Amino acid sequence: MNEEDREAIDRKPSTTGAGNSPVVPKQLTLESRLQFRCHPGIDCFTRCCSDIDIMLTPYDVIRMKQRLGISSDRFLERYTRSRIEEKTGWPQLLIKMEESSGKPCPFVTTDGCTIYTDRPAMCRYYPIGQGIHRKQVDDQVVNEEFYMLIREEHCHGFSEERQWTIAEWRENQEAEHYDRMAGQWKELFVRNITREEEKDGRRQTMFFLASYNLDQFRRFVLESRFLETFDIDAEETAAIREDDVQLMNLAFRYLRYLFGVEKTLSLREGVLPEEEPGGEGA
Ligand code: SF4
Ligand code: SF4
Repeated sequence: MNEEDREAIDRKPSTTGAGNSPVVPKQLTLESRLQFRCHPGIDCFTRCCSDIDIMLTPYDVIRMKQRLGISSDRFLERYTRSRIEEKTGWPQLLIKMEESSGKPCPFVTTDGCTIYTDRPAMCRYYPIGQGIHRKQVDDQVVNEEFYMLIREEHCHGFSEERQWTIAEWRENQEAEHYDRMAGQWKELFVRNITREEEKDGRRQTMFFLASYNLDQFRRFVLESRFLETFDIDAEETAAIREDDVQLMNLAFRYLRYLFGVEKTLSLREGVLPEEEPGGEGA
């Protein structure tokens, strides 16, 4: 791994300290084999759903808030906490574990996960962690995915007989769909926040809003000068009023534009860059 490489391991127990990592230090590919089965009859059932760091993507928030029938404001307030990721400086959103004994996830019961079909990506991927290498190939930087096994003592799924390739496991867990939904957003994460961006609190605030609080981002788009400023066509404007996924995709385009990753939006004719809502002139 060279100096430019970044690594993002998707899920780790909050109690694990340095030198005590459950991540097996071997890179896996889609063809690597895994012996594992998780099912309600296993003696460790739901033991993995307490006192852990579950990071949420914007698409996770959409699925979970829709499942619960609440706004993103309410979801963030009741079920999440945030922190700044040490390596990169980006704000991360995590499920807030309950304060009660053992710090259980707010969605776990003795019968399992109450939001199972809408559970977050990290819960789906487990016990497979996912990372990205940034590699220089000729004159281009390319992202290369890799996988690793997370083997925790309390998890007895590895003693079950079911065999998979990593690709089969991912298909079973709908991982491709979740990866697709978060792809453009995750690309922001593999670069560090610059000093300039760190000092610019407005951009950090907008990153959090556009990533995690889509109901508020919708109000920002519809009620600020956003639509007068950026050239968004009528069909997309109609869609984002109702459709959270369409709105999320606009949010990703906006973030990539705002952070200078790609020119994903065009200003309307006659609009000056300093007039952008959320930009220098706001
Ligand atoms: S969201 Fe569901 S699967 Fe994930 S930790 Fe909570 S209870 Fe477990
Ligand atoms: S600890 Fe492992 S086998 Fe047990 S419920 Fe959790 S993921 Fe499944």
